[in-house]
Amino acid sequence: MHELSICSAIAQTAMDHAGGRAVRRVRLRVGHFRQVVPDTLTYCWDLQTRGGPLDGCALDVEHVPAVVVCRTCGASTGLTHPILVCGACQSREVDLVSGEEFLIESIDVAEEVS
Ligand SMILES: [Zn+2]
Repeated sequence: MHELSICSAIAQTAMDHAGGRAVRRVRLRVGHFRQVVPDTLTYCWDLQTRGGPLDGCALDVEHVPAVVVCRTCGASTGLTHPILVCGACQSREVDLVSGEEFLIESIDVAEEVS
């Protein structure tokens, strides 16, 4: 499953970062166009981490909306449909400025080595 392989990659990154310390929380930014369902992602995260070194680590998923900037009128508008069009003037001359993110924003680790 898509989400499960993502969680596996996040878990590996978090453990590499923690260097043996307990990981408390991982914050993730996921763009609109990544087509990741946050609930599915956190569900898979629980499955992925249960019983392992990351057991109990929280995964926060922040959804980043898709935003385009129009080259015709200069407006910056959010996309509600998966069509690249300006929300102000309907021009298709737009640049996507967010929505494709897939970033680990932060990893909180415990101070002490467990
Ligand atoms: Zn426009």
